[in-house]
Amino acid sequence: MLTDIQIAQSCKMLPIVEIAKKLDISEDELELYGKYKAKLSNELWERIKDKKDGKLVLVTAINPTPAGEGKTTTTVGLGQAMSKIGKKAIIALREPSLGPVMGIKGGAAGGGYSQVVPMEDINLHFTGDMHAITAANNLLSAAIDNHIHQGNSLNIDVRQIVWKRAMDMNDRALRNIVVGLGGKANGIPREDGFLITVASEIMAILCLSMNLMDLKERLGKIIIGYDYDGNPVTAKDLKVNGAMALLLKDAIKPNIVQTLENTPVIMHGGPFANIAHGCNSIMATKIALKLADYCITEAGFGADLGAEKFFNIKCRMAGLKPDAVVLVATIRALKYNGGVKKEDLGVENLHALKSGIVNLEKHIENIKKFGLPVIVAINHFESDTDEEIEFVKNFCKNMNVDVAFSDVFSKGGEGGKELAEKLVELLDTAVSNFKPLYDINLPIKEKIEIIAKEIYGAKSVIYSSKVDKTIKKIESMGLDKLPICMAKTQYSLSDNPSLLGRPEGFEITVKELKISAGAGFIVALTGDIMTMPGLPKVPAAEKIDIDSSGVIQGLF
Ligand code: ADP
Ligand code: MG
Repeated sequence: MLTDIQIAQSCKMLPIVEIAKKLDISEDELELYGKYKAKLSNELWERIKDKKDGKLVLVTAINPTPAGEGKTTTTVGLGQAMSKIGKKAIIALREPSLGPVMGIKGGAAGGGYSQVVPMEDINLHFTGDMHAITAANNLLSAAIDNHIHQGNSLNIDVRQIVWKRAMDMNDRALRNIVVGLGGKANGIPREDGFLITVASEIMAILCLSMNLMDLKERLGKIIIGYDYDGNPVTAKDLKVNGAMALLLKDAIKPNIVQTLENTPVIMHGGPFANIAHGCNSIMATKIALKLADYCITEAGFGADLGAEKFFNIKCRMAGLKPDAVVLVATIRALKYNGGVKKEDLGVENLHALKSGIVNLEKHIENIKKFGLPVIVAINHFESDTDEEIEFVKNFCKNMNVDVAFSDVFSKGGEGGKELAEKLVELLDTAVSNFKPLYDINLPIKEKIEIIAKEIYGAKSVIYSSKVDKTIKKIESMGLDKLPICMAKTQYSLSDNPSLLGRPEGFEITVKELKISAGAGFIVALTGDIMTMPGLPKVPAAEKIDIDSSGVIQGLF
């Protein structure tokens, strides 16, 4: 089979103006970035905002293997398949970050014959949104250090600054640094560090804002640190939230691109799924719902993290009501959950499949707790055997849950027709009684416990002594009535990556709480959380190349 980049470069893209026309968007309502990428103008939103919404479908997954289980690939393939069966569908995805592109995971534009194009642009600089976010983030950093250098009238305690600099690259050497070295003219020395741009609170804010003014207001609420009396200091106190909003005036507009089969895709925003909520922007989803009959979107990591945060944070804040969920499962990940080692996943193993399938069972039960209809999509890998596939299908049938075989990676939309047809039928017959899982007015610990017990299946939650202090502080600032953004390993339903399948009777340990006052959530950290990844021993970057005729290699 051809590589992702070979497939992407051999496809026949339509000019983006043509793709927009399919959605009744005029050229005037587009801001073109070359021939195949555009941003959607504010005027478009004004024109369509009162139209009826299409159906909202979330694609999520079981707990994955380290390679990822194909949520993006399935989302793209399903969108293509919907077009194939004559439905007007649009796909809403996150934008990739350069860190994983150059690191280990690769890009985030799908795979095989279910990709978003132009994939090389999308995976590299796209329309500059990441760079704009980086600039806004670092303007705030520069303002902090300058304020201190100029006399520190806000009394910022340099030991209590929580705001970090950002860069969109995996670079572990920047995790912990000292700035301001070199004497009097060069600022006040202090410890600092870098986040990868997608982990910046600004990315989360961009994705949760309703419009530019809302964005500006939220930027102003960012807590950069504390003064010597322990009071929070905000971006507004430093008077730079206006300039930060200006830097983001184009980044806030959703991007439109297409799939290999010319299905429209809105790609916008890409917050980390650990320190943030891991879904594309509210504005992109809202606009997508106005433009087509079906909007298919994805949330990061497994359903215990991605779907939970999509429902409890994004849908709640935006007033969105999802209609159905596609739960991606792979035979590989089910076997992995049944204890098979990564290198043996290609070998048939019905025994492991039987013990790992409890993971799927738990995720199905969880989605039903949100009042949503669900269909399981078996993302087919070449190594799957007929017996293994049959086993998963029967398991779902016995649970009375719809299930469809999907081969969109090697066949594109054609390989997703069964999934598309069954999904449409589900949407036509089942009703969504969507409701978030907890009331945001509950005490912080109660909210965390509901998630831990109901979604993860934990017995109890234990807190470090630091957490109690932070809770008091958050309550004293009046910021406790916010949703919880859980930061947890994606490999297990528990906070221990080696506890696979469907663990029970375990404890979840919350080590630390962080307040993201601008984004509007409280982050609960259950482990050491990576906000600046490193590169692996052999980074993808070593295989990436371009030749004199512009042929690219190594992007995937
Ligand atoms: P996720 O969104 O769940 O992280 P992706 O869709 O990005 O997963 O897929 C992860 C990787 O696996 C990508 O490199 C993708 O090309 C590959 N992949 C996905 N589905 C398949 C499949 N059915 N067969 C082979 N490779 C696949
Ligand atoms: Mg993905």
